[in-house]
Amino acid sequence: MENKLLKYLECNKKYVINLISKLIEIPTINPPGENYEKIVDFLESECRKLKLVTRKYVTPKSVLDKYGVNGGSKRISLVADLNAGCKKILHINSHYDVVPASDNWKTDPFKAIVKGGRVYGRGSEDMKGNIASVLFALKALKDCGMNPKINIELSFTPDEEIGGRTGLGYLVEKGLVKADYAMSEGYSGHYISIGNKGVLWAEIEVIGKSAHGSMPHKGVNSFERMSMLVNELEKLKNKILKRKTRHNMREAISKSPSLVMGGFLEGGVKVNIVPGITKFSIDRRLIPEENISAAKKEIEAIIRKFNARYKDSKVNIRFVSQENPAISKKDSAFFKIASKAVKIITGKYANFSVMPGATDMRYFMQKGIPSIGYSASGGEKWHSDNEFVYIKSLVSTAKVYALIISQLS
Ligand SMILES: [Zn+2]
Repeated sequence: MENKLLKYLECNKKYVINLISKLIEIPTINPPGENYEKIVDFLESECRKLKLVTRKYVTPKSVLDKYGVNGGSKRISLVADLNAGCKKILHINSHYDVVPASDNWKTDPFKAIVKGGRVYGRGSEDMKGNIASVLFALKALKDCGMNPKINIELSFTPDEEIGGRTGLGYLVEKGLVKADYAMSEGYSGHYISIGNKGVLWAEIEVIGKSAHGSMPHKGVNSFERMSMLVNELEKLKNKILKRKTRHNMREAISKSPSLVMGGFLEGGVKVNIVPGITKFSIDRRLIPEENISAAKKEIEAIIRKFNARYKDSKVNIRFVSQENPAISKKDSAFFKIASKAVKIITGKYANFSVMPGATDMRYFMQKGIPSIGYSASGGEKWHSDNEFVYIKSLVSTAKVYALIISQLS
């Protein structure tokens, strides 16, 4: 039976190529979030062809307001159920929004180009290719006459690219989706993601006193103060770099937390003015063993000390985004089935790793639901020019999904 399924997927590639192409050609650019209704209608009709029962949810304005989401389409999520009459539910989530494309693409980013074993287009890898692979897997099961031993619930959600709180986050929060196990975007090949680092973003403002460039003694140079503060923060950076998570990471270097300063930088008006205000950002990533409140305290302590030492300047900090690290609850049966599927398809032993970047999977992980991230891949050029996905990966990812769906109960 297994072989029949894999053979079907190998012989019907056309379906997945055709489907991803159509998805790429609906430009669901976010921000601001365009064509959401159009893609949901399209996905709904595709799901119905597979005999799935669909429902739609619109994220209410109050939730959009709360997270500062405005403009663009209505925020619609599509949920599609395959009720196999079983007790448990495997939930498979995909986000359908994509980031904007620059003018530097060699081809039209919203026209799918199939060439050299790849499909090019914005969202091909992140993550419309995976939507196509998941539906391909379900089509294979249906056409091979196989009934899963678990109910399947698919969700197609907006706004992952702006944090997901108004997409999957809303559905999970309201209990509109149910899951005993969950799968979504993540690693590919023989890597399976089981968590992600936490994120803390801050904006720091250094206030000095502006003065004429010829009379610097009349001012307090906020830029020079900032550079002293940056030095202190560098010490913190060196300290946290020594920490290492006990979890697997695909790249050993990612086993440590990180701290990036100056991603955003502002200040200075003119060459002959002593700068009075300088601002810069901090992007702090947390390993699963850390937490947001402790990470905040470490930064705040440095600023407090700095302010106490330099009374003629003032440093203010504002945390603009924060998210604790997420790690999946272990479920040995689920993980074993996933790991076996990956071994059969890739020939390599599965490596369960934590990802440096956060995805919507964390909403399930935070609820204690065993969750894994696995998706079709290309050149790992998410968000960059000339994004693509390998057709081989679309097919092998569909195979992994099909094996998991057919074996999990
Ligand atoms: Zn994505």
